[in-house]
Amino acid sequence: MKISEILARNVPSISFEVFPPKVDADFADVEHAVREIARLRPSFMSVTYGAGGGTSRYTLAIAEEIKRDFGVPTLAHLTCVSSSRKTVDEQIDRIRAAGIENVMALRGDIPAGHEADKRDYHHAVDLVRLLRGKAPDLCIGGACYPEIHPESADQKTDIRYLREKVEAGCDFLTTQMFFDNHLLYNFLYKIREAGISVPVVAGIMPITNARQVERAIHLSGAMVPQRFRALVDRFGSDPAAMKQAGIAYATDQIIDLYANGVTNIHVYTMNKPDVAEKILGNIRCFLG
Ligand SMILES: Cc1cc2nc3c(=O)[nH]c(=O)nc-3n(C[C@H](O)[C@H](O)[C@H](O)COP(=O)(O)OP(=O)(O)OC[C@H]3O[C@@H](n4cnc5c(N)ncnc54)[C@H](O)[C@@H]3O)c2cc1C
Repeated sequence: MKISEILARNVPSISFEVFPPKVDADFADVEHAVREIARLRPSFMSVTYGAGGGTSRYTLAIAEEIKRDFGVPTLAHLTCVSSSRKTVDEQIDRIRAAGIENVMALRGDIPAGHEADKRDYHHAVDLVRLLRGKAPDLCIGGACYPEIHPESADQKTDIRYLREKVEAGCDFLTTQMFFDNHLLYNFLYKIREAGISVPVVAGIMPITNARQVERAIHLSGAMVPQRFRALVDRFGSDPAAMKQAGIAYATDQIIDLYANGVTNIHVYTMNKPDVAEKILGNIRCFLG
């Protein structure tokens, strides 16, 4: 099933992101976690793709398994900036052959020392155009950044490029994590004003241990509100308490989003079935 069909229902949905293993030895553990998450029957699941190619070969294997064994629609991520045209073409052919109908088209992070003039792809929009041309019936997602992409000069420029990416063929957008819903409401207002009308899925990261906070901020550049910082300061040294507080905070964010008409939520599960299950339990009666 296409994600665009799920989003068009316009009723509250919840989807989960998982990541594939980095090395063969971890495959069984990751597979077990992913199966536990798929068993919860979210609206759809996405499987990330390693920018440097490290985990890329497992993305499709995991996505296929979720679809085949649980009937959960899957979204396979694909990055382009550090790949050759040949590699990207081959991966698209594999996605098609596996019957995956949804692709998240991403640039990926630029590896250190990577020279711009040696790249086949520069931005996600290049990949969106390629996918649209090669497989017109695919449902294509793109990333967006309520607090602007860290490399962007300003929000206006970021939104201008986002519009170009959507016009190239994105059916929906998924946001980077954010910890203050007002940032999302503000962003939605601005992109709608700029003429971007595709559905936006709100990305929520439940922070369940203190180490994760610094890592999440470092990777995403997300602003951490004082209310959240206080939870980490108070409960960060008590793993069980921090986990419960992080799940409660994410639940609170999701309920506020549903209440304000943001119907589609994507949870960055970090491959933690217990976290996904608790969040789902907390919001089940809101789902369509
Ligand atoms: C929902 C989500 C899922 C993700 N999944 C993965 C994953 O599976 N694997 C992974 O490695 N990474 C993933 N990432 C991280 C992502 O690859 C990085 O954030 C990356 O730095 C940017 O990717 P993008 O697709 O947003 O790039 P782009 O849309 O190309 O944007 C990147 C920057 O370039 C600018 N830009 C865009 N188009 C142009 C243009 N034509 N000219 C000049 N500037 C332009 C933008 O304003 C922005 O500053 C994900 C991020 C999100 C939000």
